[in-house]
Amino acid sequence: MYKAFFFDMDGVLFNSMPRHAKAWEEVMQRHGLRFTVRDTYVNEGRTGHSVIDECYLATYGTEAPDGLWQLIYEEKSRAFERQGEPEAIDGVREVLDYLCSLEPKVQIWIVTGSAQHTLFDRLERFFPSVFSSERMITADDVTHGKPDPEPYLKAWERSSLSKDECCVVENAPLGVRSAKSAGLTCLAVNTGILLPQDLEEEHADKVFDNMHQLLQWLRQLN
Ligand code: MG
Repeated sequence: MYKAFFFDMDGVLFNSMPRHAKAWEEVMQRHGLRFTVRDTYVNEGRTGHSVIDECYLATYGTEAPDGLWQLIYEEKSRAFERQGEPEAIDGVREVLDYLCSLEPKVQIWIVTGSAQHTLFDRLERFFPSVFSSERMITADDVTHGKPDPEPYLKAWERSSLSKDECCVVENAPLGVRSAKSAGLTCLAVNTGILLPQDLEEEHADKVFDNMHQLLQWLRQLN
């Protein structure tokens, strides 16, 4: 059994991706940019700036001018916030409860590109006593976000364990790429609209259709 689990947040703990997709589509359209729901899922993990630049380049043949990309990103953030707080991903509470019940205790980490100040409060509200503020890697802790390996390498270093004792739980192709380039085992749960192949192509060690399948697989390990 693994001794540490590194959980991504968007699309793994919280069902926030449909809200991101809706916000991106709405705002990009307003600026004459074509951006599909699939684009949101494929690009998950990249910075807003690089997502806007690439989309702008495809439409206008040049990167988004300074000032404009910030404006688009602010509009997108507001469109996301307006939709209210996302719910927990179906079945993830059962996965976390199971991992918390194991003896000897396993480490449970959050590794996210998000940098909200209220992050820990929200985690505590949704998943009481599962996470600790010392076992979190956020956007504030890294120079290069996913798909760079840095976020997962940082979690691994701080865990004081060997790489084969650590296991990542991801939902996004670029998150899987980050975990695999860090040399870690990566379990992918396809909680969104992508095809299993999208995650397999990034060399996820296992791809599950939902959290219930992941739980079943974890139970068999012990
Ligand atoms: Mg994610």
